[in-house]
Amino acid sequence: MTMGYGITTLHEISHMYNDLEDQSVIYGVPGPNEKVINTIRTELDTTGSFKLSFGQRKSYSPLDVGGVNFSPFSSEAYKKGPSKVDP
Ligand SMILES: [Zn+2]
Repeated sequence: MTMGYGITTLHEISHMYNDLEDQSVIYGVPGPNEKVINTIRTELDTTGSFKLSFGQRKSYSPLDVGGVNFSPFSSEAYKKGPSKVDP
C-alpha cells in the first residue's frame, strides 16, 4: 500500500501542483517530491487506522540487486539492504 495506486497518484499529483522533481540517480536520496509523500505517509500512520506502517521511502532510486529493484522504507532496511531476493 505504501507504493500502491493511491500513493502513486498522490506522488504524480504532487509533481504537477508542487512543481517538484524526483531524485533520479542517487541511491539513498528520496528527492523533494518523495519527501512530500513521506509526510503524507507519516500523517496516515498517525491516524492509527492501519495495521502496518507506511514507512518512509528512503530512496527514490531503487538499488539494482541482480536485476531486481530494492527500495528501502526504513532506516534499518536502508542500512541492511536486501537480505533476500527471490528469483
Ligand atoms: Zn515522480
